Amino acid sequence: MRNEVADVLVIGAGPAGSALALQLAQAGFTVTMVDRREFPRHKPCGEFLSPQCVPYLQQLGLGGMLDELGAHHVEGMQLSGYGASTGGRFRQLPDRAAIGRHGFGIRREVFDHRLVQAAIAAGVEFLPRHDFVELTRTDAVVDGARFRDAQGQPVARRARQVVGADGVHSRVAKALGVQRRLDWLDQFALVAHFEGVAPGPVADVQLLPGGFFAATTVDQGLYSLNLVLPRRALRERTAADWDQFVQQHAAGSPAIAARLQGARRLQPWRGIGPFGFRTTTATVPGCALVGDAAGYVDPMTGEGIYFALFGARALGDAITAALHEPGTAPAAMARYRRARARELGPRLQASKLLQRAIRHPWLVRTFLRSLQRWPRWTDLLVTLTGDTIHPRELVKPSFWRAWREAS
Ligand SMILES: Cc1cc2nc3c(=O)[nH]c(=O)nc-3n(C[C@H](O)[C@H](O)[C@H](O)COP(=O)(O)OP(=O)(O)OC[C@H]3O[C@@H](n4cnc5c(N)ncnc54)[C@H](O)[C@@H]3O)c2cc1C
Repeated sequence: MRNEVADVLVIGAGPAGSALALQLAQAGFTVTMVDRREFPRHKPCGEFLSPQCVPYLQQLGLGGMLDELGAHHVEGMQLSGYGASTGGRFRQLPDRAAIGRHGFGIRREVFDHRLVQAAIAAGVEFLPRHDFVELTRTDAVVDGARFRDAQGQPVARRARQVVGADGVHSRVAKALGVQRRLDWLDQFALVAHFEGVAPGPVADVQLLPGGFFAATTVDQGLYSLNLVLPRRALRERTAADWDQFVQQHAAGSPAIAARLQGARRLQPWRGIGPFGFRTTTATVPGCALVGDAAGYVDPMTGEGIYFALFGARALGDAITAALHEPGTAPAAMARYRRARARELGPRLQASKLLQRAIRHPWLVRTFLRSLQRWPRWTDLLVTLTGDTIHPRELVKPSFWRAWREAS
């Protein structure tokens, strides 16, 4: 074990881990970040970033990054299902001029790699191909972790603060004993990139029994496609291979089937699941969880990267306060938990509600047909999923005045 004790040890270098590591390095702390993968690496994802991600990237000095990387501008969402279809655009509220009227489509191997590079450039020590094994503790306080490197050799690191940012199947959350699966939401996803699909200005979401297709154009004009279904669909499948499996589901989704006509898949289908988890707490003495490691519901609204960036900022502020004045650590971590609960709690609840609702075709059809008649409501729904509006604001008259002026 190395004798040095870093200020912070971040386990996992996805958007949550690398944004947090970058913020803390910029604040002058010594940070070690560890990931079991080499970067750039692929991550199964819809690859849509909501407009509200932009201010968080700006705070890290990465405001122009998405355009530099050639991210595709996504102006809204076409929502279809059971013979009904409606389109909505992100709207800009007068008091939120800094946030653009579009989200972004970008491959995760490109976006995540750029964040890791920015963290390294800011002085973060990065250890790729190190697999987390266990946490270490002194007097019941987490003070480090053990890993296995690419050669299978044990590696140990110590830090004043340890962070689990190791994604939806977080082994750190498991090691803390705080992870719980959402058994009722037993889904899996298949993802792949395609070429030969005409770039579209909006993301496509096609609802299916118990699941959905979500797809968007990303950088280099590629098309990123996700199929999310209950896991029992895997057990019951009759298709000869994954292409046929996807085609069978696309047959009932005219918009997706039309887009895939003549398209070429660029790599093997990748799968992930299940992804519905919660945690009983996001902090214990010496260790905190952030991003998917702290809990995730479902990718339908494309908000996970925003959740990761928001969580990283809130936790970064808490760790900064705690390291400067160790006596205030419990209060700082309580502020982090409250900030998460306030900002993300209602969004995660809405996501759960949506997942229950899409199991009822008549409800989906009636809902989409109502939205078709009142397109501005579709814009509101889409803007809510873009994270620029918080569900809590919907009860405020001032919000509705601003919404009337939204462009
Ligand atoms: C099918 C699907 C589609 C999605 N679509 C969207 C979308 O369009 N838009 C959106 O905003 N969100 C989407 N999400 C959610 C989004 O992908 C996540 O919320 C986001 O990646 C969370 O970031 P993170 O940094 O917490 O975790 P991750 O991005 O998962 O990063 C975790 C990192 O930890 C590393 N790691 C894991 N285990 C270990 C270990 N044992 N030791 C060391 N390192 C480890 C991993 O290699 C990885 O690099 C989708 C999710 C799924 C499943």
